[in-house]
Amino acid sequence: RKIGYAIVGLGYYATRIIMPQFANCRSSRLTALVSGDMAKARTFAAQYDVPERSLYTYDTFDRIRDNPDVDVVYVILPNSMHAEYTIRSAQAGKHVVTEKPMSVSVSEAEAMVAACRKAGRKLAVGYRSHFQPHNILAMKLSRDGSIGTRRYVHAEHGFVQGDPTKWRLKKALAGGGSLMDMGVYSVQAMRYLTGEEPAAITARSSTDRKDPRFAEVEDMISWTFEFPSGVIGHGMSSYSSNHNHVRLTGDKGRIDLEPATPYEGQALRIARGGKEERLDPPPGPAVNQFVGQLDHMAECILNDRPPLISGEMGLQDMRIVDAIYRSAAGGGTIRL
Ligand code: NAD
Repeated sequence: RKIGYAIVGLGYYATRIIMPQFANCRSSRLTALVSGDMAKARTFAAQYDVPERSLYTYDTFDRIRDNPDVDVVYVILPNSMHAEYTIRSAQAGKHVVTEKPMSVSVSEAEAMVAACRKAGRKLAVGYRSHFQPHNILAMKLSRDGSIGTRRYVHAEHGFVQGDPTKWRLKKALAGGGSLMDMGVYSVQAMRYLTGEEPAAITARSSTDRKDPRFAEVEDMISWTFEFPSGVIGHGMSSYSSNHNHVRLTGDKGRIDLEPATPYEGQALRIARGGKEERLDPPPGPAVNQFVGQLDHMAECILNDRPPLISGEMGLQDMRIVDAIYRSAAGGGTIRL
């Protein structure tokens, strides 16, 4: 059996990146659409063979409870709407995948985890890099001693924002700036490459508040993590410069992922024993990271297993994001 997905929010990531991937899935199919714009929903419904009875507006969304073709709801809305639609989906008896960042606050993320637990439904966050072959190989090389004892991890993500009217630059919809959007990739990579959780966090932000793009949200933010093993982490995110680089350094070598987390085109280099080489990873669990993520959730539902990219993982990221913001706002070093 294939697990049926409803997609909520028919914006760029949903329609251009995720929806075309169902054709490549082994265990997932697209069965319902939720949108504020029914004309748009009908156009995509025709393209993907979704019946009229499985189209919903935000007002009729709760009726999805009665749709047996929908097993899981994938929330691909602006960040501040993730919590509401995750909780409504769980209350409608559906499993949930929510996009990153999981929410715009720790308390929302806790409420999302609690709602899914109460309903007995699974919750996952759209952390596609866990299904991406270069990132999977980097995790393995980190763990198997290929670069010796881990000492330092560095992660930077960013791009140059343009139009100041976009929702990503509105605090009420985005919850924050570059950290919420791109910084979560840096935080995630620092966690999955070290396999550790930061014990202490110190952060600084640099934002030109006169720039109309940054009237409400931060531009650049950087942070230091102190990990229990003694590894030091340095992460950053930016909305005014381009970055997509993750580096893990041990006492015998170094791994570089650059670019680390784009939709495609990742590259991995390893330096050890005086030599630096590019490594091509074995294939991942699926034809690409998006299919890997969609089918992973479907197979977790079919086999009643917890998703690797769990709500708890997202909640921990929100705790870290919150600590970064508190430290950058003058809170000094925050101990977790
Ligand atoms: P987008 O602006 O292209 O799409 C957002 C959709 O939400 C639009 O269809 C819009 O009509 C709808 N919407 C509903 N209510 C809205 C409101 N009040 N204001 C604005 N839009 C509203 O955005 P996107 O790039 O598709 O991002 C959507 C989510 O997906 C975000 O949480 C983002 O972080 C996440 N995302 C994840 C990845 C990834 O690689 N995992 C990539 C891109 C985006």
